[in-house]
Amino acid sequence: MDCGIFGVYGHPEAANLTYLGLYALQHRGQEGAGIATSDGKVLYYHKGMGLVADIFTQEVLKKLPGHLAIGHVRYSTAGESHPKNLQPLIFDYSRGGVAIVHNGNLTNAGPIRKALEADGAIFQSTTDTEVIVHLFARERRSQKAVERLISALGKVEGAYSLLMLTEKELIAARDPYGFRPLVMGKLKKGWVVGSETCAFDLIGAELVREIQPGEVVLFDGDGPHSFFPFPKVEPKQCIFEFIYFARPDSFLFGESVYKVRRQMGMELAEEAPAPAEVVIPTPDSGLPAAIGFSHRSGIPLELGIIRNHYVGRTFIEPSDSIRHFGVKVKLNAVKEVLKGKSIVVVDDSIVRGTTVKKNMHMLRQAGAREIHVRISSPPIVSPCFYGIDTPTKEELIAANLSIEEIREFLGVESLSYLSLEGLKRCVKGRETQFCYACFTGCYPVSPPKERLQLGFFAKEV
Ligand code: SF4
Repeated sequence: MDCGIFGVYGHPEAANLTYLGLYALQHRGQEGAGIATSDGKVLYYHKGMGLVADIFTQEVLKKLPGHLAIGHVRYSTAGESHPKNLQPLIFDYSRGGVAIVHNGNLTNAGPIRKALEADGAIFQSTTDTEVIVHLFARERRSQKAVERLISALGKVEGAYSLLMLTEKELIAARDPYGFRPLVMGKLKKGWVVGSETCAFDLIGAELVREIQPGEVVLFDGDGPHSFFPFPKVEPKQCIFEFIYFARPDSFLFGESVYKVRRQMGMELAEEAPAPAEVVIPTPDSGLPAAIGFSHRSGIPLELGIIRNHYVGRTFIEPSDSIRHFGVKVKLNAVKEVLKGKSIVVVDDSIVRGTTVKKNMHMLRQAGAREIHVRISSPPIVSPCFYGIDTPTKEELIAANLSIEEIREFLGVESLSYLSLEGLKRCVKGRETQFCYACFTGCYPVSPPKERLQLGFFAKEV
């Protein structure tokens, strides 16, 4: 799952800070959110479908006492949109209460779940995170939560950046490849851990460092303790966090997201110049790359597409249906910028291609004379199994059509993507430490042999 996680240790307003942290991480998931806290004796939690600001009112936050907290924002993935899958997952085991939040996908959750179910285990969600919970609860060799968690994580494969809360401890862990980000910061009082540094900026926390791939950090009364319990491998951090997913004001994997994204636009301008009068960014994620493209090419940048930031999940269309209403409600073209012009539109990626096609039609209708499309990442040809919600190979346009065929499909004058080599130049010196599997099909961790088709047998009405 694409998600955002946030945790606080040792602050009297742990729930409020976690709420703000999740608020800053809302771009990582809008389906639902949850917070669990502890006052040292009891765990408290609240979860709901929807946006952070709607779920956590003042009244709700007042009911979440304690100086420890973890929280989660969940991305909507097909077939799994169900309140039971919201996190934190909360459970009681032989030693007390535990809450867990997870960003990433495990690649061997299916066979482990099948074996556990055959052994009598009962699952309450269809998330692979619950597999970790079962392995944790069944561990008998150690009484300590951190040792139990390390033992459980030693059995799973794939991507996880996760936080676990017990009555008295916060534990943070990142898988050995470090697919998903996880950073650690300090407040005047206490510690914070989260998916991205933009969450620290909002609450005035200072970035201490990234939690390293393969590292487990225990926060308890003596401060943080670091463990490296797993065999060391070369990190394979998700390059897509830089391309699209992370917020540009975050600092991840040792780099500023904005700077890397802008560099991608500069490389693209070198590799694939366009005979255009204006550079048009696709809001919002295409903007830094468009700035880079404009800077390197010398072509002025204009805001030819405006995004409505206040679109909710549903909207009511007037009964007299309006042409291309669905596209226009999110993005609209600025006719005065586009009319009669040859434009180069910069976007970060093309997944299915259907939205881009509609956008190009909208620009043409607004008067663009020539449209050149430049994409600041290579063609996506393979799905992600480590936590980014890309569709199956059948639905990925670049897995099925040539670049020329995509150009025709989009109805534009020219189309170019950033090359893989160009992308690697944007993280020069550390290019071997990133995962590029969705562009190459070469997976650092074997994908699951079969996708488990899980569903709920009981329906809440
Ligand atoms: Fe990121 Fe692509 Fe690797 Fe998934 S496959 S972790 S999206 S780079």
